[in-house]
Amino acid sequence: MTGERILIVEDERAVARGLEYGLQAEGFQVFWARTGQEALQLLRAENPALITLDIRLPDTSGYDVCRALRAEGFRQPVLMLTARDEEVDKVLGLELGADDYVVKPYSLREVTSRIRALLRRAYGELAANGESVPLRFGDLEIDPARLVVRKAGSAVELTPTEFRLLHHLAAHADRPISRATLIEAVWGYESDIGGERTIDVHIRHLRTKIEDDSANPQHILTVRGVGYKFQG
Ligand code: CA
Repeated sequence: MTGERILIVEDERAVARGLEYGLQAEGFQVFWARTGQEALQLLRAENPALITLDIRLPDTSGYDVCRALRAEGFRQPVLMLTARDEEVDKVLGLELGADDYVVKPYSLREVTSRIRALLRRAYGELAANGESVPLRFGDLEIDPARLVVRKAGSAVELTPTEFRLLHHLAAHADRPISRATLIEAVWGYESDIGGERTIDVHIRHLRTKIEDDSANPQHILTVRGVGYKFQG
């Protein structure tokens, strides 16, 4: 998996350079945006496979950039780079559509392994596993070959993380699945503190997108003390 285009959004030159050299050495093609405005311009122009997003930017915050790019319909994985542990709560709590985060100071190795995991699950893993048969439950269709979900015939916009989470639940319909199992299935690596809350945030998003009434879900049910269950 080489040659993918990565957009680095980072105002500090030294930090951006470090990331850029490291990612180029791994075979990635790198674009660098210093501001939120530049980030959105490069995103539209270069269509990168993944975005790394610093939270403190000169013109806006990484939170707002993440919200804006999701609002424009960009579904690429977003890796948030947070300066402090306290920001992690905000990354998870604000429901921005970010897929993962690392806390500075991070090692280049950590960042590249996160990036590879995000790319794998966004673009490769489902097809590689041969899980390409669409799943159908009433008016809901989950098509792993095209990474598309349709509800009553209309496409539902899901991020790659949301898609993978929904697909894993639906592929094991009517069975309770623990948060730890979901993290392993969706992320493919041991997650940091906050991982289980990350699942809850993504579940909340999924319910808003696929349930008729997200407060009274019919498909994605909470299994108290365990995790979640997809009801077919
Ligand atoms: Ca910064």
